[in-house]
Amino acid sequence: MKIWKILSPNVLVTEERPDNLTSRTQAKVKVTNVLLSGTELRAYSGVSKPKYPFVPGRFAVGVVGEAGEDCVKVEKNTRVFLHDAVPCGKCEHCLAGNEDNCSDVQIAGVNTEGYLRDFVVTEEAHLSPLPPSVSDTEALFAGIVATAENVIDKLNISKGSHVAVFGAGELGNILSQLLIYHQAVPILIDADEERLKKAAQCGIYYTVRANESMLDEVMRITGGRLACAAVHCSYNNISPVIPFDATAFGGMVVYTGFSFPECSAQLKPAFDKQLTLTAVANDYSNIESAINLLLNKAVNIAPLHLAVHPAADAAAVLSEGDARAKKGENVPVSLLNMLS
Ligand SMILES: [Zn+2]
Repeated sequence: MKIWKILSPNVLVTEERPDNLTSRTQAKVKVTNVLLSGTELRAYSGVSKPKYPFVPGRFAVGVVGEAGEDCVKVEKNTRVFLHDAVPCGKCEHCLAGNEDNCSDVQIAGVNTEGYLRDFVVTEEAHLSPLPPSVSDTEALFAGIVATAENVIDKLNISKGSHVAVFGAGELGNILSQLLIYHQAVPILIDADEERLKKAAQCGIYYTVRANESMLDEVMRITGGRLACAAVHCSYNNISPVIPFDATAFGGMVVYTGFSFPECSAQLKPAFDKQLTLTAVANDYSNIESAINLLLNKAVNIAPLHLAVHPAADAAAVLSEGDARAKKGENVPVSLLNMLS
């Protein structure tokens, strides 16, 4: 197989490796599409300090080319989502059969090798078959949908509750769409007008510019009660303490993202308001329900107008994205077509 690996910051090379099945429960998957997001950019530029050499690529879909004799849910030609996060199988929780609480989750392209390659050999347990009406592009968002669902589970909100969502990147946008699906009322806040416009096209009704009057706006929308919960999405140039002001007494603030930057915060306002603070970074137990939500069209990604690049342009796309990120721009996710 051909893999793309980062040797050192800003140096992406390809390498050939053997790719034979080594157990009867493995499958060999031809990778068709990989999502290029902030996770890949930060690994490429060295911001996230990965251990080089490093194979990036967290979210990917493909087609099974060969399935081991004991595979039961996939066969040749099954379209699949490759799980981005899998339990380690070695920690105390995994060994006790409690894999949902694994303390060392292996995340592709983050703390273990990613999917930027032409073929992946993996256990079929790490693959989810895709229904025909979920496109490859939609399926690339399954891990993001699962994470957003995990956030919503944590919020434990009732119908009609206002939830302030800070950061209108892909995660904040999808989370807001799912909040609507679950009959809550998201208020999506971001400094980037373009992102808010796309969010509005995705059906998110309350979009608010992040500026000095945003809290007044949250007050107005909630009839003076403030949001009963807030979600702060990482890497959005929004201070982690802002959600404290937007959340009502006794509410909850969830910090979410696929990784978190170094940060410090003045916590007194949160303590005074007796807020519950927690964090969500993935959800590997909910991929099947995420695919089901995509099947039910609970999420509309068409307004995101994802750019599609050929795999051969991977280095150029990462380098250009890195330059934009360094200028402080929001770089939207794009799609790498591994077949072109
Ligand atoms: Zn574990």
